[in-house]
Amino acid sequence: MQSFTEENYLKAIYSLSLRHEGDVSTNALAELTATKAASVTDMLRKLSDKELIHYKKYQGVRLTEEGERLALQVIRRHRLWEVFLVEKLGFGWDAVHDIAEQLEHIRSDELVVRLDGYLDHPQFDPHGDPIPTPAGKMPETGYRKLTEVGVGEDVRLMAVLEHSTEFLQHLDRSGLTLGCIITVKTVNDFDKSLLVRTETGSTVFASQDVAKNLLVS
Ligand SMILES: [Zn+2]
Repeated sequence: MQSFTEENYLKAIYSLSLRHEGDVSTNALAELTATKAASVTDMLRKLSDKELIHYKKYQGVRLTEEGERLALQVIRRHRLWEVFLVEKLGFGWDAVHDIAEQLEHIRSDELVVRLDGYLDHPQFDPHGDPIPTPAGKMPETGYRKLTEVGVGEDVRLMAVLEHSTEFLQHLDRSGLTLGCIITVKTVNDFDKSLLVRTETGSTVFASQDVAKNLLVS
Protein backbone atom coordinates (compact mmCIF):
# COMPACT_ATOMS: atom_id res chain seq x y z
CA MET A 1 0.00 0.00 0.00
CA GLN A 2 1.27 3.48 -0.90
CA SER A 3 1.09 6.25 1.67
CA PHE A 4 -0.57 9.57 0.89
CA THR A 5 2.73 11.30 0.24
CA GLU A 6 4.01 8.54 -2.01
CA GLU A 7 0.92 8.83 -4.19
CA ASN A 8 1.44 12.57 -4.49
CA TYR A 9 5.05 12.04 -5.49
CA LEU A 10 4.11 9.54 -8.18
CA LYS A 11 1.56 12.03 -9.49
CA ALA A 12 4.10 14.87 -9.40
CA ILE A 13 6.72 12.79 -11.27
CA TYR A 14 4.10 11.84 -13.84
CA SER A 15 3.03 15.43 -14.52
CA LEU A 16 6.63 16.74 -14.59
CA SER A 17 7.68 14.01 -17.03
CA LEU A 18 4.90 15.12 -19.39
CA ARG A 19 6.03 18.73 -19.12
CA HIS A 20 9.72 18.02 -19.65
CA GLU A 21 9.36 14.96 -21.87
CA GLY A 22 11.95 12.83 -20.11
CA ASP A 23 13.62 12.22 -16.78
CA VAL A 24 12.55 14.50 -13.93
CA SER A 25 15.13 16.35 -11.84
CA THR A 26 15.15 16.23 -8.05
CA ASN A 27 15.12 20.04 -8.02
CA ALA A 28 11.97 20.24 -10.12
CA LEU A 29 10.31 17.78 -7.73
CA ALA A 30 11.42 19.72 -4.67
CA GLU A 31 9.97 22.87 -6.19
CA LEU A 32 6.65 21.28 -7.16
CA THR A 33 6.11 19.50 -3.85
CA ALA A 34 7.50 22.46 -1.87
CA THR A 35 9.85 20.22 0.13
CA LYS A 36 13.58 20.29 0.82
CA ALA A 37 15.83 18.46 -1.65
CA ALA A 38 16.98 16.14 1.18
CA SER A 39 13.43 14.97 1.92
CA VAL A 40 12.80 14.48 -1.78
CA THR A 41 15.89 12.26 -1.98
CA ASP A 42 14.62 10.18 0.97
CA MET A 43 11.27 9.68 -0.70
CA LEU A 44 12.87 8.81 -4.03
CA ARG A 45 14.94 6.12 -2.35
CA LYS A 46 11.78 4.64 -0.84
CA LEU A 47 9.93 4.66 -4.16
CA SER A 48 12.95 3.15 -5.86
CA ASP A 49 13.09 0.33 -3.25
CA LYS A 50 9.47 -0.43 -4.10
CA GLU A 51 10.39 -0.43 -7.80
CA LEU A 52 7.96 2.36 -8.57
CA ILE A 53 10.64 4.62 -10.07
CA HIS A 54 14.02 4.36 -11.77
CA TYR A 55 16.35 6.53 -9.73
CA LYS A 56 20.09 7.12 -9.66
CA LYS A 57 21.59 9.81 -7.48
CA TYR A 58 22.45 13.01 -9.39
CA GLN A 59 20.39 11.80 -12.32
CA GLY A 60 16.74 12.28 -13.09
CA VAL A 61 13.90 9.98 -12.08
CA ARG A 62 11.42 8.12 -14.21
CA LEU A 63 8.36 6.06 -13.27
CA THR A 64 8.49 2.31 -13.74
CA GLU A 65 5.52 0.69 -15.46
CA GLU A 66 4.01 -0.08 -12.05
CA GLY A 67 4.72 3.48 -10.84
CA GLU A 68 2.95 4.94 -13.85
CA ARG A 69 0.01 2.59 -13.35
CA LEU A 70 -0.39 3.79 -9.75
CA ALA A 71 0.00 7.47 -10.74
CA LEU A 72 -2.71 7.10 -13.37
CA GLN A 73 -5.02 5.42 -10.85
CA VAL A 74 -4.68 8.41 -8.53
CA ILE A 75 -5.29 10.82 -11.42
CA ARG A 76 -8.33 8.78 -12.50
CA ARG A 77 -9.81 8.97 -9.01
CA HIS A 78 -9.05 12.70 -8.77
CA ARG A 79 -10.80 13.51 -12.03
CA LEU A 80 -13.82 11.28 -11.35
CA TRP A 81 -14.28 12.99 -7.98
CA GLU A 82 -14.13 16.38 -9.65
CA VAL A 83 -16.93 15.34 -12.03
CA PHE A 84 -18.95 14.08 -9.08
CA LEU A 85 -18.48 17.31 -7.12
CA VAL A 86 -19.54 19.51 -10.05
CA GLU A 87 -22.31 17.38 -11.56
CA LYS A 88 -23.87 15.82 -8.48
CA LEU A 89 -23.08 18.20 -5.64
CA GLY A 90 -23.30 21.47 -7.57
CA PHE A 91 -19.82 22.79 -6.86
CA GLY A 92 -18.31 25.32 -9.30
CA TRP A 93 -15.35 24.15 -11.42
CA ASP A 94 -13.23 26.63 -9.46
CA ALA A 95 -13.93 24.93 -6.12
CA VAL A 96 -13.30 21.23 -6.67
CA HIS A 97 -9.56 20.71 -7.17
CA ASP A 98 -8.52 20.98 -3.52
CA ILE A 99 -11.33 18.70 -2.35
CA ALA A 100 -10.42 16.14 -5.01
CA GLU A 101 -6.81 16.28 -3.82
CA GLN A 102 -8.09 14.67 -0.63
CA LEU A 103 -10.70 12.31 -2.10
CA GLU A 104 -8.22 10.90 -4.64
CA HIS A 105 -6.46 9.01 -1.86
CA ILE A 106 -9.44 6.81 -0.97
CA ARG A 107 -8.29 3.52 -2.41
CA SER A 108 -11.38 1.33 -2.60
CA ASP A 109 -11.49 -0.12 -6.13
CA GLU A 110 -15.17 -0.91 -5.70
CA LEU A 111 -15.88 2.74 -4.84
CA VAL A 112 -14.16 3.92 -8.03
CA VAL A 113 -16.06 1.40 -10.17
CA ARG A 114 -19.39 2.50 -8.70
CA LEU A 115 -18.52 6.20 -8.90
CA ASP A 116 -17.60 5.81 -12.58
CA GLY A 117 -20.87 3.97 -13.26
CA TYR A 118 -22.94 6.50 -11.30
CA LEU A 119 -21.43 9.30 -13.38
CA ASP A 120 -22.12 7.35 -16.58
CA HIS A 121 -18.44 6.80 -17.44
CA PRO A 122 -17.30 10.39 -18.08
CA GLN A 123 -14.39 10.94 -20.49
CA PHE A 124 -13.33 14.38 -19.22
CA ASP A 125 -13.19 16.19 -15.89
CA PRO A 126 -14.69 19.69 -15.35
CA HIS A 127 -11.38 21.28 -16.42
CA GLY A 128 -11.40 19.41 -19.72
CA ASP A 129 -8.70 16.94 -18.70
CA PRO A 130 -9.14 13.40 -20.04
CA ILE A 131 -9.89 10.74 -17.43
CA PRO A 132 -7.47 7.79 -17.58
CA THR A 133 -9.19 4.53 -18.56
CA PRO A 134 -9.82 1.79 -15.94
CA ALA A 135 -6.93 -0.10 -17.59
CA GLY A 136 -4.65 2.85 -16.81
CA LYS A 137 -4.23 4.51 -20.20
CA MET A 138 -4.23 8.29 -20.56
CA PRO A 139 -6.32 9.19 -23.61
CA GLU A 140 -4.56 11.40 -26.20
CA THR A 141 -6.21 14.75 -26.81
CA GLY A 142 -3.95 16.53 -29.31
CA TYR A 143 -4.84 19.91 -27.80
CA ARG A 144 -2.61 22.95 -28.43
CA LYS A 145 -1.90 25.89 -26.18
CA LEU A 146 -3.64 29.10 -27.16
CA THR A 147 -0.17 30.68 -27.47
CA GLU A 148 0.47 28.40 -30.48
CA VAL A 149 -2.59 29.61 -32.39
CA GLY A 150 -2.17 32.05 -35.27
CA VAL A 151 -4.06 35.31 -35.85
CA GLY A 152 -7.42 34.78 -37.51
CA GLU A 153 -7.75 31.14 -36.46
CA ASP A 154 -11.03 29.94 -34.91
CA VAL A 155 -10.48 27.44 -32.12
CA ARG A 156 -12.54 25.78 -29.40
CA LEU A 157 -11.50 26.11 -25.75
CA MET A 158 -11.16 22.50 -24.54
CA ALA A 159 -9.23 22.45 -21.26
CA VAL A 160 -7.23 24.47 -18.75
CA LEU A 161 -3.79 23.62 -17.37
CA GLU A 162 -4.10 25.77 -14.25
CA HIS A 163 -6.79 24.70 -11.76
CA SER A 164 -6.48 27.36 -9.07
CA THR A 165 -9.64 29.09 -7.91
CA GLU A 166 -8.18 32.50 -8.83
CA PHE A 167 -7.40 31.47 -12.40
CA LEU A 168 -10.77 29.80 -13.03
CA GLN A 169 -12.70 32.72 -11.57
CA HIS A 170 -10.70 35.03 -13.82
CA LEU A 171 -11.83 32.97 -16.84
CA ASP A 172 -15.44 33.06 -15.64
CA ARG A 173 -15.28 36.86 -15.40
CA SER A 174 -13.74 37.05 -18.88
CA GLY A 175 -16.49 34.87 -20.37
CA LEU A 176 -14.03 32.15 -21.37
CA THR A 177 -15.90 28.90 -20.75
CA LEU A 178 -14.99 25.39 -21.86
CA GLY A 179 -16.44 24.60 -25.26
CA CYS A 180 -16.66 28.20 -26.45
CA ILE A 181 -15.27 29.16 -29.85
CA ILE A 182 -12.66 31.90 -29.80
CA THR A 183 -10.86 33.74 -32.58
CA VAL A 184 -7.40 35.20 -32.12
CA LYS A 185 -7.61 38.83 -33.26
CA THR A 186 -4.12 40.13 -32.50
CA VAL A 187 -0.89 38.93 -30.91
CA ASN A 188 1.21 41.63 -29.28
CA ASP A 189 4.85 41.27 -30.50
CA PHE A 190 6.21 42.82 -27.33
CA ASP A 191 4.76 40.54 -24.61
CA LYS A 192 2.88 37.91 -26.65
CA SER A 193 -0.42 38.89 -25.04
CA LEU A 194 -3.51 38.25 -27.15
CA LEU A 195 -6.81 39.82 -27.98
CA VAL A 196 -9.42 37.16 -28.69
CA ARG A 197 -13.04 37.42 -29.75
CA THR A 198 -15.49 35.04 -28.10
CA GLU A 199 -18.54 33.60 -29.84
CA THR A 200 -20.75 36.13 -28.04
CA GLY A 201 -18.85 38.86 -29.91
CA SER A 202 -16.98 40.34 -26.96
CA THR A 203 -13.26 41.01 -27.11
CA VAL A 204 -11.13 39.58 -24.31
CA PHE A 205 -7.53 40.41 -23.40
CA ALA A 206 -5.40 37.39 -22.50
CA SER A 207 -1.89 37.82 -21.12
CA GLN A 208 0.72 35.27 -22.17
CA ASP A 209 0.41 33.73 -18.69
CA VAL A 210 -3.31 33.17 -19.20
CA ALA A 211 -3.00 32.04 -22.84
CA LYS A 212 -0.39 29.36 -22.12
CA ASN A 213 -2.79 27.75 -19.65
CA LEU A 214 -5.62 27.46 -22.16
CA LEU A 215 -5.81 24.35 -24.35
CA VAL A 216 -7.70 24.50 -27.62
CA SER A 217 -8.46 22.34 -30.62
ZN1 LIG B 1 -7.99 18.82 -10.15
